[in-house]
Amino acid sequence: MPELPEVETIKSQLEKLIVDKQILKVDVGLAKMVKLPLAKFRKIVIGSKIKKISRRAKILIFKLSNGWSILVHLKMSGRLIFRKKGAKLQIEDTKWNHLIYYFKDGSRLFHNDLRQFGYVKLIKTDELDDFFKKEKLGPEPLKKDFSLIDFSAILKQKSKAKIKQFLIDQQNISGIGNIYSDEILFFAGVHPLRRVADLKPEESKKIFDGIKKILPKALRLRGTSDNDYLDALGNKGEYAIQLKVYGREGEKCKKCRGIIHRVKIGGRSAHFCSKCQKI
Ligand SMILES: [Zn+2]
Repeated sequence: MPELPEVETIKSQLEKLIVDKQILKVDVGLAKMVKLPLAKFRKIVIGSKIKKISRRAKILIFKLSNGWSILVHLKMSGRLIFRKKGAKLQIEDTKWNHLIYYFKDGSRLFHNDLRQFGYVKLIKTDELDDFFKKEKLGPEPLKKDFSLIDFSAILKQKSKAKIKQFLIDQQNISGIGNIYSDEILFFAGVHPLRRVADLKPEESKKIFDGIKKILPKALRLRGTSDNDYLDALGNKGEYAIQLKVYGREGEKCKKCRGIIHRVKIGGRSAHFCSKCQKI
């Protein structure tokens, strides 16, 4: 699933590509992706201009010139791929395509999704704050004002949780999913099944440091393409070769040469090194 580094990559790429462009037409191939009647969606979107692009947690927000915003959640396997006028289409542009935005200058934005869990919503821009309040999303970890004190306070509220589950719960911290929670815990030397209440202060600090180190690094490399993810230009992210544990079950630990294990936690998998990460 695209996590914070992947969604933020798409956001900053699209900022340079589609802001101030007018939407002339929208093709919707899969109606269930759009969480409102299609006629209403078309009526509001067609003719409007994209004024601003932002991100909250893993959700992209396209602010339109008419007071509405398009919200896009890529969920498991969504992609947004931009192609300029006359560009020769690649297989990834049309494969699993469900929505195409046509801009006035002849460029297009393809919204593709293999597993079809993603969604498109329309929210009035001045109601966005209320919308996100209701989603009860935790703080943005890359914001400078997200501090160790904030992090420790949230840990205290969820002391019964296992740390892996704590990290991927969007109500605790926004934007961390399966990949980066594994990598953060490896960095911190903390076993994914550890209870939050049992963490020593220095371990909490190491996890916090891991968040602040790994997410920006993954962002600089335009995210991780371990399976479906592509950035807004249709390119793979380059963080996959940096992965220490995620997706490496049975392989050797890059630090101690031990074996990477995988354990199931509440329907998710956690990857870890049992030598480097203390239970
Ligand atoms: Zn190890």
